[in-house]
Amino acid sequence: MTVERAVLDADVRVLLMTVAQITGDRRWLEEPYAPRRDVRLIAEEDAGLEPEIVDEIRAAAVDVFHRLEAGAEPAIVDPGDELMVEMMSHCLGEAVPPEYAPLAREELGLTSRLVEWPEGGSLDSEGVDHEVLVVGAGSSAIALSHALGELGVEHTIVERHASVGGVWRDNRYPGAGVDTPNHAYSYSFAPPRRWSRYFALQPELERYLADVADAYGVTDRIEFDTNVVAARWDAEACCWRVELETASGRRTRTCRVLVSAIGQLNEPVVPDLPGIEEFRGRAFHSSHWPDDLDVSGLRVAVVGSGESANQIVPAIADDVAHLTILQRTAQWARPIPRYHDAIPEGSQWLFEHLPFYAAWFRFSMWWRYGDGLLPFLVKDPDWPRDDSINRVNERHRQEMAQHIVDTIGDRPELLDACMPTYPPYGKRIVLDNGWFDALTKPNVTLVPEAIVGFDETGVIDASGAHHEVDAVALATGFEVFQGAARLGVVGRDGRSLAEEWSDDDPRAYLGITVPGFPNLFLLQGPTTGLGHGGSAIFQAECQVRHVTSCLAELVRRGASTIEPKPEPTEAYNRRHDEEHERLIWTHSAMRPWYRNQAGRVVAVMPFRLVDFWSWTHDVDADDYVFT
Ligand SMILES: Cc1cc2nc3c(=O)[nH]c(=O)nc-3n(C[C@H](O)[C@H](O)[C@H](O)COP(=O)(O)OP(=O)(O)OC[C@H]3O[C@@H](n4cnc5c(N)ncnc54)[C@H](O)[C@@H]3O)c2cc1C
Repeated sequence: MTVERAVLDADVRVLLMTVAQITGDRRWLEEPYAPRRDVRLIAEEDAGLEPEIVDEIRAAAVDVFHRLEAGAEPAIVDPGDELMVEMMSHCLGEAVPPEYAPLAREELGLTSRLVEWPEGGSLDSEGVDHEVLVVGAGSSAIALSHALGELGVEHTIVERHASVGGVWRDNRYPGAGVDTPNHAYSYSFAPPRRWSRYFALQPELERYLADVADAYGVTDRIEFDTNVVAARWDAEACCWRVELETASGRRTRTCRVLVSAIGQLNEPVVPDLPGIEEFRGRAFHSSHWPDDLDVSGLRVAVVGSGESANQIVPAIADDVAHLTILQRTAQWARPIPRYHDAIPEGSQWLFEHLPFYAAWFRFSMWWRYGDGLLPFLVKDPDWPRDDSINRVNERHRQEMAQHIVDTIGDRPELLDACMPTYPPYGKRIVLDNGWFDALTKPNVTLVPEAIVGFDETGVIDASGAHHEVDAVALATGFEVFQGAARLGVVGRDGRSLAEEWSDDDPRAYLGITVPGFPNLFLLQGPTTGLGHGGSAIFQAECQVRHVTSCLAELVRRGASTIEPKPEPTEAYNRRHDEEHERLIWTHSAMRPWYRNQAGRVVAVMPFRLVDFWSWTHDVDADDYVFT
């Protein structure tokens, strides 16, 4: 591959930013080099520019590449906030608010996300086994361990399974993959990855996490096959006593700081289904898809119509003898043109060889799946319809409804069953990567009923109908309310997190720390999940920044414990609830899994990513108590 060939595959708006940054020449930020706005997840590479302008940008990129090769230095390494805003806005063809600039500079790796650690300071490790003990070895723990490693903080990770990867180790069902573009669902601190597609599948994701863990020394810090079953704060010794279960029995470890990195979508929910033990075929939760299961020629039932079902169905429809889908609720799904496309070789080459190209590409993907949708998820109190919430939402409803009509419109019974009656985005956003097409296949039957039980030969639906099948995949979701309470955590006054969070109502300061639980931190804690877009890896990096900022402050003050004050914790949760009251997920037309029995949304954040980034960035010492 040569640069001359590679630029033909380039995203020209990204190439343009690369040229602008390397040359420092302002003319690239003016007409006629002004990309047109394109909100599609995978945007058109020519950025809406005239062919001769595209050629000029490509030629300039070739030229800067050769100049760098000959020893020239980029004119701008970090544009600073002001120029960054201008560049982001120019790149996207829309005005990007200035508050995104410092965030984007971090995301692009132009500035460091690491906190400043007090010179020579360390957490007090006297009398304890570990300074920091991290529970879980998924993507969030890897981000934390990278930062702690860089800061020189001694820590150990305990993981109940035998390898890293969390959900990407567990969810091995056919078609399993991200719905966040991968160039945004990857670490800001690691080198750009050669993703084979824009939306990678499970094997590639698991490999990526394992590779990053190896590259940054994380793997060596993990004790595998070690399950945390309880953790109690010892006020006298000022440490956590953590009970671990391994094949060789139970033991207790002490640590100054405990971090839960056990994820949000890790505990499968399997409904109580009578007769399941009599079933002679195989029945399993989607996250426990058996490695040895070959579905070719089998009659398979998929239960559910959420994200996992949406990925499984198109992936197996052509292989199975027959596929029965039991769907309780119809789903809105956004068609994503080019979802399955491979990334062209020229782009891959540019990611690896042309400075700043990968960074700007990452930014453009982060932005496309970022905060853009959130303003349109606000309920208009005067809106007259029940199946949409405002004018733009109604337009999206019509577009998505048209997509359904276009794919299954000639099958009235399917159309009836598949047209949702609630507003789009009211449940988790599903990307349509072939779901509706798969429904039209002759060997696929959609049953618009819930499953109620099993018998020896198959499943029974709520109408009483029986479906004879050989295998049943229960794509029935995850338990999202208990979170770290599952670890049997008992805090300062002998009060457990389970009590604190009773009635499925978990609350934490910024979703990260809890009053009464000193030196305890939660990654992907309550109220920090993503409903409107974004990447859980970005969330994890924000949380890691906050945790390390708290630890740095602890060391700076020579204190032993840190714990959030109740008032700011209440204020954060109040603000969270008030914001959700305005948003779609509290609409009465549906009940997404984000809400607890009382109707409170606890699983996803109502705030913009940039707000979460800014609130978590640096510890506000006034919101914490140090002892
Ligand atoms: C199918 C699926 C698709 C998803 N797609 C996306 C996506 O496209 N974009 C996105 O942003 N997010 C997505 N998510 C959300 C996903 O949860 C996050 O992206 C991210 O992987 C969370 O990482 P984590 O490390 O916090 O948790 P996890 O990956 O869940 O890892 C937690 C780890 O903790 C371990 N653990 C749990 N309990 C204990 C214990 N008691 N003792 C020891 N170890 C324990 C687990 O074994 C696991 O390894 C998806 C989730 C699923 C299930």
